[in-house]
Amino acid sequence: MHCPFCQYVDTRVIDSRLAGEGDQVRRRRECLACSARFTTYETAELSFPRVIKRSGAREPFAENKLRNGMLHALEKRPVATESIEQAMMHIKRRTLALGEREVAANQIGEWVMEELRGLDEVAYIRFASVYMSFDDVTAFRDMIDHLECQPENDGAFEEGVNPRQDDNNNGY
Ligand SMILES: [Zn+2]
Repeated sequence: MHCPFCQYVDTRVIDSRLAGEGDQVRRRRECLACSARFTTYETAELSFPRVIKRSGAREPFAENKLRNGMLHALEKRPVATESIEQAMMHIKRRTLALGEREVAANQIGEWVMEELRGLDEVAYIRFASVYMSFDDVTAFRDMIDHLECQPENDGAFEEGVNPRQDDNNNGY
């Protein structure tokens, strides 16, 4: 890196060691031109990227918001809290692994749908319907058709699609 004192283009690392709890590297550097010494710290950039909304607005990545969205879709569904937390972890990892400063809300939404689909089909459909805001009805219908076509979803889909029915039967 450039020397912060004389702006010379190169510096030499004269010492390098772990710092903090091992999550930092501390380096002593010496300018090749003016011999000034200074210290740099290197840490992984694990801050979450900012989220680009459909409107183009940017906002901070909000774990709570993500969790609430998933929990809402999973309301009254037979899915273990631990499975939900695992899904959350997958999504957070994928978000961090982008290594970008910004991520489209769309992208996160798709990851959530992938996770929900593995957890519970009803939650998946609930989330997708809200997420897609019905502004693309054709796409939504395609998605449902696609689900219905898959042999592994036979029965499960029919059974799950009217969760309220069971509630009513039990309640009244
Ligand atoms: Zn210098």
